[in-house]
Amino acid sequence: MPEGDAVSSVPVLGGWTPQGNFVAGEWRTGGGAPRAVLSPSSGAVLAELRDASAGDLSDAVARASNAQRVWTDLGPVHRGKILKQAAALLRSHESELALIDALDCGNPIKGMRFDVNLGATLMEFFAGLTTEAKGETIPQVGGKLTLVTREPLGVVARLVPFNHPFMFAAAKIAAPLAAGNAVILKPSEETPLSSLRMAEIIGDLFPDGLLSVLTGGADLGAAICAHPGIAAVGLIGSVPTGRAVLKGGADTLKRTQLELGGKNALVICEDADLDRAVAGAVKGMNLGWTAGQSCGSTSRVLVHETHYAHVVSAIAAAFDAVRLGDPTDEATEMGALSTRAQYDKTLGFIERARKAGARIAAGRPDAGLPDTGFFVRPTLVCDVGPEAEIAREEVFGPVLTVLKWRDESEMLDIVNSLDLGLTASIWTRDLDRALRLTRRIQAGYVWVNDASDHYLGAPFGGVKQSGLGREECLEEMLAYTEAKTVTLVSAG
Ligand code: NAD
Repeated sequence: MPEGDAVSSVPVLGGWTPQGNFVAGEWRTGGGAPRAVLSPSSGAVLAELRDASAGDLSDAVARASNAQRVWTDLGPVHRGKILKQAAALLRSHESELALIDALDCGNPIKGMRFDVNLGATLMEFFAGLTTEAKGETIPQVGGKLTLVTREPLGVVARLVPFNHPFMFAAAKIAAPLAAGNAVILKPSEETPLSSLRMAEIIGDLFPDGLLSVLTGGADLGAAICAHPGIAAVGLIGSVPTGRAVLKGGADTLKRTQLELGGKNALVICEDADLDRAVAGAVKGMNLGWTAGQSCGSTSRVLVHETHYAHVVSAIAAAFDAVRLGDPTDEATEMGALSTRAQYDKTLGFIERARKAGARIAAGRPDAGLPDTGFFVRPTLVCDVGPEAEIAREEVFGPVLTVLKWRDESEMLDIVNSLDLGLTASIWTRDLDRALRLTRRIQAGYVWVNDASDHYLGAPFGGVKQSGLGREECLEEMLAYTEAKTVTLVSAG
């Protein structure tokens, strides 16, 4: 894209205009700095917002603490019913929400429709778990009874990124709400619109002030982490932000859940079904969903040397065939990168790899795409060693690096040599090898002969610096509760 922003201010959100921040049960203009929300595919100004101010944050926390008591007292069954209602309402706004996300984050409308339904499904999933915040009993003697109950934490915050704006907004408020907490949601400053629309659609279902949606950037995120009235912060974001959240929450000893980055390996063994493995490598990049901007994307293929040439040319052909274009067009297979920073960062990685001697087997910057958006073609980088920057750093874009291996234990050393360990994908027909590799690969979420898909209820999260805690499962909801031990002694 674009040297300089070719912005316009065409009304592009289907007639909808955001009302500002949803603070303590009311819509406020926002007392912070102004911010234009831009479409990454066209450069158009989608909305003008003001960041939430420190005062907005304090009001949201104060009101949330009252609302949280009302919410908890409704009991788990009633809370579950309201969350199911919220999910159904959101589903009924599928087209509108998907369009907002396609415009705001640049991903194709088809994928964003999937995201609206996935967000609603995750909300329904947690709605069904409200009665599972269970405790235990401890055997005692002499008429005593010790029991452990689980209580909500109080007011918690969720900080979410730009790559699945609505899906993360809906899914990440669901677990803490199900457990009886109040939630302050901070969407990415780059893609705040569907979170605000979500609050308009479902905000009235909850006690006043239970849910606030505050827009703003790192400063607001830092203020949330430091706020003494917020008991926990759950971040979906980058590793550096994860560190900032831990440091920022240290003084108030915040409970912290971190879902961070990955440079995930996809291993193709000698005996793999090559057609399926190549299709899996393409699917694993999540190009049609997020232009590769998925934490779980398997952006490091390690292929046995006997198949290296074939795999490189087959993936290159598949990449070259991907149709990029307007994200609101149903026929578009891949959209634009979501932000200028991501676009510049991605092109920087590709350029440095090229200069360092890598071969770019697919992906031309001059591929005849509209120059009004942050479009980068799916790019295949090969003929590099495992120590190359492009083989080690998370690009968070449509860039796949292929490495070759000969010896299994050397391959494992390469896979495990990074500080990250989110997902991994192994392609083999040999069950023994599959089991051996799944045990030895350091990653939190591993597929054998598959890639990309998540399974409802299956814990998702990383090892090493890819995060702390697990999400999309019961453990996520329990992370927003605290155990309380009570011993009862007979007074008789
Ligand atoms: P980011 O870390 O820049 O931002 C995430 C959120 O944190 C945003 O709301 C942002 O405003 C906020 N934030 C930024 N700096 C902060 C600070 N100092 N204190 C508090 N909050 C702060 O991430 P991004 O660029 O929006 O998203 C891309 C990253 O997210 C990638 O690294 C990707 O791997 C990761 N991610 C992880 C998962 C997962 O489930 N593991 C899913 C999606 C994205």
